[in-house]
Amino acid sequence: MIMRYEGEVPVVAACAKCQLKFFAPATFVGDPEGAEEFLARKFDVHGCPAEIGETERQAHRARDLSSSRAVVFLRLCLGGWFE
Ligand SMILES: [Zn+2]
Repeated sequence: MIMRYEGEVPVVAACAKCQLKFFAPATFVGDPEGAEEFLARKFDVHGCPAEIGETERQAHRARDLSSSRAVVFLRLCLGGWFE
């Protein structure tokens, strides 16, 4: 997460992965900690599409792996069958 500060107070945060931006409302002027917390929470719940894409790719890879394992298992079974 990238934060842009105006003086002490972070006003804009951006996700380094999906480039989504979060703006701290003007009510946080003079409350840098509150603004940081607000932006951090926004960041936590934004459900990063870039990260979700990564997780899905990993799931795909896991599935590919298990299906190739199933083929090996099937071959072993068939080999046993024909012996
Ligand atoms: Zn993101």
